[in-house]
Amino acid sequence: MTFDETINSLRITLQQMARWGCAGFQCPPESLTTIQGWARPRAEKSNQRQPVEKAPHPIMAGHETAATETLEQIGSDLGDCRRCRLSAGRTRIVFGQGNPQARLVFVGEAPGFEEDRSGSPFVGPAGQLLTKIIEAMKLTRDQVYICNVIKCRPPDNRDPEQDEIASCRPFLERQIAAINPEVICTLGSHAAHTLLDTNLPVSRLRGRFQAFNEIRVMPTYHPAYLLRHPERKRDVWEDMKKIMALLHIPL
Ligand code: URA
Repeated sequence: MTFDETINSLRITLQQMARWGCAGFQCPPESLTTIQGWARPRAEKSNQRQPVEKAPHPIMAGHETAATETLEQIGSDLGDCRRCRLSAGRTRIVFGQGNPQARLVFVGEAPGFEEDRSGSPFVGPAGQLLTKIIEAMKLTRDQVYICNVIKCRPPDNRDPEQDEIASCRPFLERQIAAINPEVICTLGSHAAHTLLDTNLPVSRLRGRFQAFNEIRVMPTYHPAYLLRHPERKRDVWEDMKKIMALLHIPL
């Protein structure tokens, strides 16, 4: 076993024990951040678009959460979804878009007017700002994957209700498992709260890597919030620089 494999196996075992409720090895936040920064051994992916076929993730081989389905299969299971009331008012389901092998996944809240019409995530004004952020990271929308917690537009762009989130959440989790990215960037509070099981405001969560199913998560502000509070763009750029460093994208 290499050093990285040993560290990784120790990290996964401790995380599993913590999930089982074993106590006695609580760490201060600084140590948790350090532990979360430890490398996960995985095949290097370039920033170029990848072929759809991929070798199993070394640590996922034989692992019970190994991706067993494709995005296409998840999309066809979602079908013409009628699982919650939002289906009544939608024009199109907005499933997600981008590279099925992305190293970085952005998760937003829910489709708005233009996304509902087009069926694509983040194509309205907030989406245009997200595209600029992605390009500032020296990536393209084709290289990352973009989706939302909620797949149908809530009426009048209201906040999603808990039962609507509960209906959509399994599909988001399956999308993430199928892609198995190195980093997830949550945009806004709904995505962060859904994946991180917390109610802390984004202002408290952002700037530090968190974890969802062993995948690092960087919470940051939603682009729509940035359109109203441009003074927060600097914070978002700091968060994106941390993601770039993790993905070895030079500044
Ligand atoms: N806001 C979101 O959260 N998602 C979109 O797709 C568009 C706007």
